[in-house]
Amino acid sequence: MSYQHQYVDGTRIHFPVGKVVCIGRNYAEHAKELNNPVPTEPLLFIKPGSCVVPLQGGFKIPTDRGSVHYEAEIAVLLGKPLSARPSEEEVLDAISGFAPALDLTLRDVQAKLKEKGLPWEIAKSFDGACVIAPFVSASTFADLTDIDIRLTINGEVRQDGNSNLMLNPIVPMIQHMAANFALQAGDVIMTGTPAGVGPLNPGDELVLELPGTSSFSGNVL
Ligand code: ZN
Repeated sequence: MSYQHQYVDGTRIHFPVGKVVCIGRNYAEHAKELNNPVPTEPLLFIKPGSCVVPLQGGFKIPTDRGSVHYEAEIAVLLGKPLSARPSEEEVLDAISGFAPALDLTLRDVQAKLKEKGLPWEIAKSFDGACVIAPFVSASTFADLTDIDIRLTINGEVRQDGNSNLMLNPIVPMIQHMAANFALQAGDVIMTGTPAGVGPLNPGDELVLELPGTSSFSGNVL
């Protein structure tokens, strides 16, 4: 089954699914809950486009590699390429939409890699490690420093954040990413997770929202 980006009205997006560029520890309260220092420079990592799956209809998680943590994040879809040092206007012009998404993490595997100072790929890039709901058109959002993100599991709100809590706000974050490597149409930016991460279990019922603009549910199969 191949994933294709989609808007909330069901329209398919013609961009290919590119890479998923992620930022770690972008909310101070989340860095604190995992006993991580707040980085002085943005901490970036990349998931391959092949690990992206849709939320609707449910999604699978690995069951034999320790705990799988959810991280609810505001995902940004790029509709135009960005490279070198794009201006704020160029970044805003390149953003096609926003969606609630999950950056899934094999937390026990990641802890072992971190202990040894090794890269995180196998903890962050397994098949199905990025779960994305449909995108809401960027024109819906007047202020990128005021976007809510919420995750409810089995009826209980677990994560409830807002982009105003980001250590690196969306536009400067994307400028920093583009200064390090080229971004392309179809790439997705995962903007970090607020506090409240925890393990997922088969059977969990999730509601993932950008409150006020989009709300989608999906089960862990
Ligand atoms: Zn994350």
